Amino acid sequence: MEFDYIIVGGGSAGSTLANRLSARSANRVLVCEAGEDTPPGKEPPEILDSYPGTAYLNPRFHWTQLKVSTEVVGHNRDPNAPPPKLRKYEQARVLGGGSSINGQMANRGAPTDFDEWHERGATGWRWKDCLPYFKKIERDLDVDDEWHGQDGHIPVRRVPERQWPGHAKALAEAFGRAGYKYLPDQNGRFEDGYFPITISNAEEKRVSASIGYLNAEVRKRPNLTISTLTHVTELLFDEERRCVGVKATVDGRPQEFRAKEVILCSGAIHSPAHLMRAGIGPARHLTDLGIPVRHALYGVGQRLMDHPSIALASFLKPKARVTNKETRRHLFVGMRYSSKMGGAPPGDMFVVGASKTSWHAVGEQIASFILFVNKTYSETGEVRLRSRNPGDEPEVEFNLLSDRRDLERLADGIRRLTPLYNDPAMRNMMSNPFPASYSDKVRQVGEINTKNRILTGVMAKLLDGPGFFRRYLIENLIMEGYTLQDVCNDEDAAEAFIRGAAVGVWHASCTCRMGAESDTMAVTNNAGRVHGMAGLRVVDASIFPVVPCANTNFPTIMTAEKIADAILAGH
Ligand SMILES: Cc1cc2nc3c(=O)[nH]c(=O)nc-3n(C[C@H](O)[C@H](O)[C@H](O)COP(=O)(O)OP(=O)(O)OC[C@H]3O[C@@H](n4cnc5c(N)ncnc54)[C@H](O)[C@@H]3O)c2cc1C
Repeated sequence: MEFDYIIVGGGSAGSTLANRLSARSANRVLVCEAGEDTPPGKEPPEILDSYPGTAYLNPRFHWTQLKVSTEVVGHNRDPNAPPPKLRKYEQARVLGGGSSINGQMANRGAPTDFDEWHERGATGWRWKDCLPYFKKIERDLDVDDEWHGQDGHIPVRRVPERQWPGHAKALAEAFGRAGYKYLPDQNGRFEDGYFPITISNAEEKRVSASIGYLNAEVRKRPNLTISTLTHVTELLFDEERRCVGVKATVDGRPQEFRAKEVILCSGAIHSPAHLMRAGIGPARHLTDLGIPVRHALYGVGQRLMDHPSIALASFLKPKARVTNKETRRHLFVGMRYSSKMGGAPPGDMFVVGASKTSWHAVGEQIASFILFVNKTYSETGEVRLRSRNPGDEPEVEFNLLSDRRDLERLADGIRRLTPLYNDPAMRNMMSNPFPASYSDKVRQVGEINTKNRILTGVMAKLLDGPGFFRRYLIENLIMEGYTLQDVCNDEDAAEAFIRGAAVGVWHASCTCRMGAESDTMAVTNNAGRVHGMAGLRVVDASIFPVVPCANTNFPTIMTAEKIADAILAGH
């Protein structure tokens, strides 16, 4: 059977496109998703959980072999120098993609982000063009005004304050006392202030893109086929530059599918890898790997972005902790501020208050500020192939902090947040603040298994013991060498801490950017069509011209909604 569209990857973008393209009954649509299904009514409980750690710490839903480096790697690096440290970087392998395992934060970005998209060559993607599609995604359960939609597939809401744990209430009080404005709606007018976090969740359950867009009703469409456990291994071409289908392994068995158009929705790490394996990408890199160059497109895999972040953690007194009685959420309060540094636009920095940091007993005792550079200038990351083998994960260098302004704003952010620990409401709820790192050690203890449950159970009992003993444990077993005083008062210590601890926040993007054909860094046009190729598009977070000041799920779904309309209109 020949399809009109093959969607490679049923993630945030893929699920959205599958819904919209198959709404026209003449379109035969196939979705190939490497991971498992999340069937309506039988979604894995870990995915439905309001507390997302049960999903994003669960290797069952990941590309487990993927490892990345985050530190700056110079392009003229000494080949004899030790290789950059590799870290795990969770990317979803399950229907719904990132939206099935993410933190459920529903955020849009700054209007200036999308005006910048347009200026960088994605014509027709200004804020005024994108806002209607952000509204189209959602059914806002709390707010009905000019910023919000009421008819979309994804319900959004804010956890009511009466359900917040003591930690979140103290945080809001401290932000208020420090002079930040209260914003009842983070996705209303874009301005600085603290707010209840908006989440893609209804009735204490996650609503992923697949749960929302590929619901039972949509799955009844005879022109829509969803093939899960289907790993696409190769793109097929007839003439040199026309894509006509894919090769895949379906539950382990090889199979071919043909279509008029193939749409890559595999995410910002795997979509450029598909292109490069097909000979579409930087010519020299392809030649080095012995891949015949089908079309030299320098921008493929280049300028990978994420938001650089660090954390400040503290010990929570028992009365401050998440009780799980009314909600299992752990993120309640966020804050946006303007650093006014390095020419950054307003609202360039973002803070999330995490009222617990993992699923286990110690995670429930530790809270954190996650501080990230929302308007980052570091855009020198890269995705390269290791080999032609589709089973090998690509080599991924994020090069976070390659622009010094990002490092300086994180250091400034630490100095802004630290005094909040002296606020009376905060002192009443927590103690022992320290700079923290989402290191591999933390990840290892965060993996859901019996050993970690027992280990953290014992540790938690000790942490709840006498204060001097707690301090000893935090300084010797949890902290990574720097005190809050060190990083606030000593610039060298701050830089060393930030360079060692900075990680991304899973917002991989920009590796197949939209832009004008004359721009050597552009990979697709403003409707996701790959420049110079026929029958081939990319529609996912990789086509962002620059990462917006936001968590990237809603910007990705918005992108897919807008391109779905373009495809249906014949573009
Ligand atoms: C742990 C985590 C936490 C996050 N937290 C938030 C948050 O709170 N809020 C927010 O807005 N954003 C968050 N994000 C980011 C957001 O979820 C992503 O930016 C978004 O989901 C990206 O969508 P996408 O369509 O580009 O890719 P994805 O949603 O990742 O979809 C890609 C899909 O393609 C499939 N695929 C890949 N290769 C193949 C292949 N060869 N064959 C078949 N299928 C393939 C994958 O299995 C996957 O399902 C988070 C992401 C992660 C991973």
